[in-house]
Amino acid sequence: MEKDRVRGLLADLVRIDSAVTSTEQANRDRTEERIADFVSDRLRRMGMTVERQEVFPGRPNLIAHWRERSTGKRLVLEAHLDTVTVEGMTVEPFAAEVRDGRMYGRGTCDTKGSMAAFLAALELAYHRDMLPADQIYFVASMSEETGCDGAAALMDYGFRADAAIVGEPTGCGLVTCHKGPLWMEVETRGRSCHASVPDRGVNAIDLMARVVEFTHGRWLEYIGRVSHPLLGRSTAQVTLIQGGAKSNIIPARCRAFIDSRLIPWKASSELLADFERMLAAYLGDERCFAIESVRTLAPLDTPVDAPLPRRLLDLCREANGQEGPRGVNYFADSGPFSSAGIPSVLIGPGDIAQAHTADEYLDLDQLYQATEIMLTLLTQNAGRSILSES
Ligand SMILES: [Zn+2]
Repeated sequence: MEKDRVRGLLADLVRIDSAVTSTEQANRDRTEERIADFVSDRLRRMGMTVERQEVFPGRPNLIAHWRERSTGKRLVLEAHLDTVTVEGMTVEPFAAEVRDGRMYGRGTCDTKGSMAAFLAALELAYHRDMLPADQIYFVASMSEETGCDGAAALMDYGFRADAAIVGEPTGCGLVTCHKGPLWMEVETRGRSCHASVPDRGVNAIDLMARVVEFTHGRWLEYIGRVSHPLLGRSTAQVTLIQGGAKSNIIPARCRAFIDSRLIPWKASSELLADFERMLAAYLGDERCFAIESVRTLAPLDTPVDAPLPRRLLDLCREANGQEGPRGVNYFADSGPFSSAGIPSVLIGPGDIAQAHTADEYLDLDQLYQATEIMLTLLTQNAGRSILSES
């Protein structure tokens, strides 16, 4: 494997600012387009046809494949185009500086490292004329960090495949499952009055205190009843709270944000209905609160006993001694993919602990290892299908 090539590719990717600070900023700066242009160019040089789905102007998903290779199963290599903001960073975010075997900068770990490894492996296999018989797709998504918006749009657009390998920092380990978030905003509704005569009103903050108690008590206990062999138990926390209007007024409104991270279990719509019913019973009144906004992302639980996860696990075992597949707490594009029927797994260089940090870096040995694993996956199966039993 050519280490210079993959390290140079990562440096090129890091030097392109694709940080999303806010939706407004990303829409204005056409953030993902900059990096999509660079990646498109590399893909076209291999003769791939590159299609763009403009989710917002200048904010595309990118879908590439070899048009002449139109038989065989579809295997997707995927990584997201966006990174999180560079605000508060203590290292140069776009310098791609290498020190002590690490490359520093925004996205080195999450997830330009994966993108570089996947792209370099594909280029090397292509130049050696050692591609598998499957139809290989290279897909890069927009706006993953804000909740997999690009991957969801790609599924709405009708894109489908037989399997996907999603690049995220897994320490070059195979990950087959992750939790899915359920995000709710709850408003409690009381009645305001002057604080000197509190009996005339109903205190919305007092109601919210009981919502917090419910969430960290009965709700957590309920969703924690079941456990997953790789993911453990679901969690729930109140993460934001805002209430009251004036220091001497009994508040009529209080709002809180509740972040639940759910293992694959019941459908999120069912769990939301459970939350609402149980909270109404807890407060003894269903009119004193409302669930105002809800967002969910699908969890992942891909069966391990399929050719792709088995082959990847064999390669990981050889490269780093991984014994069995792993689960992670964070969500990724694999959620929307799998709920649309594309069996997905995660693998990529780096430790998730370094993602989104002030001094984000990637160990270059991880980068080389991930590239080697992907390159071997492709070339070991040259002319055969990775997705079929051999
Ligand atoms: Zn990521």
